[in-house]
This record gives sequence, structure tokens and C-alpha cells, in this order.
Amino acid sequence: MATTIAPKRDDLLRGLRQSGGVCLMFIDGAFSAASDGGTRKLINPSSGEVSAVVAEGTKEDAERAIRAARQAFDSGPWSDTHAQDRAKLLFKLADKIDEHFTDLSRLETLNNGKPVRETEYDVTDAANCFRYYAGLATKPHGETFDVPAPSQTFVVREPIGVCGQIIPWNYPLLMGAWKLAPALAAGNVCILKPSELTPLTALLLATLIEEIGFPKNVVQIVLGTGPVVGQHLAQSPLVDKIAFTGGTKTGRAIMLASTGNLKKVTLELGGKSPNVVFADADFDTAVDYALFGIYANSGQVCSAGSRLIVEESLHDKLVSKIVERAGKIRVGDGFDPETEMGPIVSRAHQEKVEAYIALGKQEGATLACGGGRLPGELGEKGNFIMPTVFTNTRRDMRIVQEEIFGPVLVVQTFKDEAEAIAIANDTIYGLAGAVFTNDIAKAHRVIRKLRAGITWINTYHPTYNEAPWGGYKQSGSGRELGTYGYDSYTEVKQINVNLDVAPSGWFSD
Ligand code: NAD
Repeated sequence: MATTIAPKRDDLLRGLRQSGGVCLMFIDGAFSAASDGGTRKLINPSSGEVSAVVAEGTKEDAERAIRAARQAFDSGPWSDTHAQDRAKLLFKLADKIDEHFTDLSRLETLNNGKPVRETEYDVTDAANCFRYYAGLATKPHGETFDVPAPSQTFVVREPIGVCGQIIPWNYPLLMGAWKLAPALAAGNVCILKPSELTPLTALLLATLIEEIGFPKNVVQIVLGTGPVVGQHLAQSPLVDKIAFTGGTKTGRAIMLASTGNLKKVTLELGGKSPNVVFADADFDTAVDYALFGIYANSGQVCSAGSRLIVEESLHDKLVSKIVERAGKIRVGDGFDPETEMGPIVSRAHQEKVEAYIALGKQEGATLACGGGRLPGELGEKGNFIMPTVFTNTRRDMRIVQEEIFGPVLVVQTFKDEAEAIAIANDTIYGLAGAVFTNDIAKAHRVIRKLRAGITWINTYHPTYNEAPWGGYKQSGSGRELGTYGYDSYTEVKQINVNLDVAPSGWFSD
């Protein structure tokens, strides 16, 4: 394996605002330390070394941000700015992200561990997301209705207000873009809370936002843990909407915490997505996407194809090829240009994935490959798990039903189309799913029966800013991206106008 060419840590952190070696969060127009001076050491998932020290926000910091945001929305100019002006700023931000492409992608690799080739995609996607919503900002239109004269009725969309946006660690910058871009395009003000494990790229984004000159408090970035800062955002009566991406259990807690003022809530949650392969599929394509579906970002993808559901007659041939190819995946440091699969985000999450692997063996599944840590010095320091495949599974096994969120593929088999569909839909989740077959009519029949919001035919994973993202069942509520994502950041108002200004005479004089 080629030598790791990690840039120097201090060079990567240079763009962030720091004080005394602590990276600061962005509240009330200034880069600030935590109210109680608290800090958190971030750990590089590949080396186990401290990658940065960041401010650890408190409830008081969250409250300060909420009050500043409330003021900015209620009396600031942002929600009344012309959409063209908001679009201009979003276009500028997209260009700034492009200018900082290398800094952002390398910082993301330090942040989350994923290989540079993946973080480069993420940065490009993030810039494209801001650009898409910059374009969309000027496009929304209302409706008018043909109601009895002399009334005229029309409908407009308006921003919701103060939006708390809570994001996970698996795509730290991109999830920030998915949240901020539509909300800002629609005229909302945002408080973004990155995962406490991976706040670095959001902090660099804050410096770009400040440089561009967004009005004060239109965007704030508050750091801290979920149970403290996230929970406070969800509970606050001054917050109008929570947009959350993360685990299903956390989503439930957020929904409960949000009931006080019945704020709007959108939830993008977990998955256990089926990848259905029929015997007539193009074999090499099915193998390729089965690997990409589960091992991209080390399986830490909400829409990962974590259940491979194979037609019985193809099982042995397909599994043996997948196992052979999985064994060749180059696992290593994300800064190593030869690395194809990086580490697990944290030691705690690595242990959770390992516990599922132990459980799979206990439950009686066959470990066809992987199952262990990367051997050698790198494997001792970092959080690496080898690509893993379980066969001989049963539908009731926990490794088949629960989201593992790591590089662990479980294989299931089916006899016919009806059974494939039944197995595919047999979890509490409904985020994503795919079907591989050369029979186009069958592909459409199966995809229409999948209870999932994001689906593919003869491919896995590609998605675009233009199309809605979100899940059925316990994978979430609401949609992000596309016009759906924009709409989810707006209130809808009907306006009735009397075109014959005269008393109605309903009550006698
Ligand atoms: P998580 O639920 O532990 O944390 C996500 C965010 O919520 C973090 O910022 C965390 O600090 C915060 N949080 C935690 N507890 C909270 C609470 N009680 N109140 C408010 N906020 C709280 O998830 P994670 O481990 O960071 O990410 C992995 C999960 O995210 C997986 O389940 C994955 O499927 C899901 N995910 C879903 C999507 C999607 O689009 N559907 C995308 C990415 C990740």
C-alpha cells in the first residue's frame, strides 16, 4: 500500500476560527467559545490521534443562538429580501465551496475518516446543492382559484421562521448543505447543529458564510451533544421547525420533544434497505453495485443496500463473486490514495458494529467473509472493520432486521417475485431499495411494490438534488431535496380578496 500522505493537521485547521487552540462555533454573528468554556477532543478515526479541539456548546449557547435567530427572523430583513438577493448569496456560497474544494474535502477526511475520493464527491455535491436552491429560490410560484365573484383567492408560500437543523456524522458537509440550502432559499433563518463527532467542515462553512456577508444570524452553527443542544432546539417554543437527520430512536425523541409548541418536524432516519437481484440480471453489474451499495462510506450510509435478496438459483455464484471481490477491497486511511474503504467513525461505533457481527454468529448465520478488524498497526490504532458478508440468514434475525450502519451485508434468498417483494418489505424501515433484472416489466412491477422512498433499477446509490429524498414507514417523515425540500421549509397562505368593496349585509343594520 502507498504511503499515507495526510496533510498536516494544523494546515487543515488553518481556515477555522480558533482561540487558544480551540475551534469556535458561530453564534450571534461572532465565533465563540462555549458559555462554560467546555471543549471536546475530536479523534481521527484512522489514527486514534486527536485531530482537533472544538468548543462544546451548552444549553445556554443554544438559547443564545435561538434568541438571536428569533430576532433575525422577526425583525431582520432576510425573510423580506427579494428571492433574487437570496439566490445571489447562495450562488456565491456554492462558488466559495468550489474555491475551497481541496481544503473542504481534506478536512472532511480528517473529520469523518472517509477516503478523499469520497469526500471530493461530497464537496462537489454540497456546492451543487447550494447552486440548485439558488436557482430554485426565484422559481416558486403560487396558485389562483376560480372562486365566486367578487372574491379572488390566491395562495402564496412564506418561510416558516427559525429552523433548528440537526445532522449526523456520516456526510457532515453534505447534510449541512441539504439542510441550509432549501431553508435559506425560502427565507428562513437557520441554526445548524452538526454531530459532536464531526463538526469541522460545518465550521469551515461558517467562515465562508461570514466572508460572503450573509445578514447577521441568518445562519448560526452551534456545537454540542444531541441530548443537550439538540434537545434544547427541539424543545424550544421559539423554534418553528426542526429538520433532523439521524437514527430512528433519536428521531422519535425529537418528535416527542417538539410537541410543546407543535413545531413542524421533518425526519430523515435509518434504513435496512433491500437490494433484490433476479437470476436474469446482468451479473457483473449486480456484483458491482452490491459492493458499492453496502461498502461505500464503510456501510455508514442511511440508504445502504444492507440486505442482498438473491434469487435462489443465482445465490452461490453471486455470493462467491461478492465474497471474492469484498476480500480485495483496500481498507485503510482515507488520506492514502490507494484506500477504497475507510474507517468507522468512532471506536464506540466500531464496537457497536462488532457486537452485531458477534450477534450474527450467535444467531446462526454463516460468516462468509470479513468479520474482523484490519490486521496490523493501522488496524490497532484506527477503527477499521473488514468488509463482511453473512449468508444462511433468517428473516427474524436481528442482523437482518436492525440497522448495523457498518460494512456488513446480510444475504437472503427468494424463490419467486412475490417472495422477493415480501422479504424486501419485511422490516420497520422503508428508506431505499433496488432491483436488478433484465426484464424491464418485472423491474417496474417490483419497484412499485417496494415500500420505500428512494429506489433504483439496475443501479444503487446515485441520487440528485432535483429529486425528493426521504423514507416510508419508520425511515422518516417528509422529504428533502428537489421542490419537495423547498416546500418543506414554507408555510402556505391563502389570501382572499374582495374585488367589490362593499358591506355584505349579512346582519341587518
Ligand atoms: P444520531 O441519531 O445518534 O445523531 C444525529 C444527530 O442528532 C447528532 O447531531 C446528534 O448530536 C443529535 N442527537 C442525538 N440525540 C439527540 C436528542 N436526544 N435530541 C436532539 N438531537 C440529538 O445519528 P448518527 O449516529 O449521528 O447517524 C447515524 C444515523 O443517521 C443512522 O441511523 C442513519 O441511518 C441516519 N441517517 C439518515 C439519513 C437519511 O437521509 N435518512 C442520512 C444520514 C444518516
